[in-house]
Amino acid sequence: MDDILEARIEDMPGMSFECGCGRRHSVDISRLVVGSNILGEIAAGLEPFRGGKLLVISDNNTYRAFGEVVINRLLDDGFRLKSFVFDSGDRMLLPDERSIGRALLEVEPDTTFILVVGSGVLSDIARIVSYRTGKQFAIVATAPSMDGYTSVGSSLVVGNKKITYYSHYPYAIFADTSVMRRAPMIMIQAGFGDVLGKLTALADWHLARDVSNEYYCGTIAKLVRKGVDKCLESAGGLAERDEHSVRCLIDALILTGLSIGLAGVSRPASGTEHQLAHYWEVKAVEEGKEHPLHGNSVGVGTVVTAMLYELASEILPEGIAYPRADYVRSLLGKVGAFTNPGDLGISRELFTDSMMNAMYMRDKYTVLRYCSQKGRLEEFAGIIAGKLYS
Ligand SMILES: [Zn+2]
Ligand SMILES: [Zn+2]
Repeated sequence: MDDILEARIEDMPGMSFECGCGRRHSVDISRLVVGSNILGEIAAGLEPFRGGKLLVISDNNTYRAFGEVVINRLLDDGFRLKSFVFDSGDRMLLPDERSIGRALLEVEPDTTFILVVGSGVLSDIARIVSYRTGKQFAIVATAPSMDGYTSVGSSLVVGNKKITYYSHYPYAIFADTSVMRRAPMIMIQAGFGDVLGKLTALADWHLARDVSNEYYCGTIAKLVRKGVDKCLESAGGLAERDEHSVRCLIDALILTGLSIGLAGVSRPASGTEHQLAHYWEVKAVEEGKEHPLHGNSVGVGTVVTAMLYELASEILPEGIAYPRADYVRSLLGKVGAFTNPGDLGISRELFTDSMMNAMYMRDKYTVLRYCSQKGRLEEFAGIIAGKLYS
């Protein structure tokens, strides 16, 4: 069972093992390819679908970044395909009814497979459309911006509300480091924020095990920690788009995404920092406002959660390892990412509201609920707001 701790990402698809935690863990994705200049491997990986007709979905940006190159290569190799490029104009592409409906219209009776070239929003759209039309899909990732490539759910905006819909795993994920290192810096910063969030997510998982006797898997926690640590070690190169640093970031994002599927719960990848980020995102969507990228919010949420852990240190059970807030801040600073909720456009009022209420949005035991049960949350939230909004 420790094999997975030593395995390369590319060798993980199909792995399945009985674990000491009492559960069987498996990686239900057929193919993961991470590397530099992997165009040939993309074509080879899609070989099983050569007999049908592919629908290739991208948007103006991702088409320019890599979509056009991928399409030309597939056409040269004799694939039959139709390309659909979202033109979102000045509007940020949202995974809403309009975009999903638009993509659905491009699925034809003879479409057999969907290939999406893009990051979070585009892959969420392709995931739900392929699932609902009963087709497999694959992702050519264009930015290391979040850990959702390996997700089974689609995070959508329906009726102006942010809702996660059950969908399915991609057949394959292709991550070309030579393309992804050129992604907009804000997306690299976001991906790094999503990775940092695992530090507090793992602390919360540990806390939930100790305080509310929740299921916990030490092997998965170790796997996530290993990927995160490797990414943190090389974080210094991210601001210069160093390819090795970007590779470590991609690996960490894929690994933590896979860990959710392995555990069967989102615990290893999301805790308080995600509850806060989610709260801020939901409020923005309800008000029809654009919100920062998921990972930018998670990065800030990680700073806040680390501050809360520090304040709660005297009342915590023994042995809970959590990151120091200054450490998280300095890591975010290395890539020039946001560190303060004010940077994300969050008012002091909304911030305090989120501290008191984020724990109710998803039923998950985290340090927020722990502090609340101890009768200290309001006091701690006030101290943190005072520090962040001085
Ligand atoms: Zn386990
Ligand atoms: Zn996340």
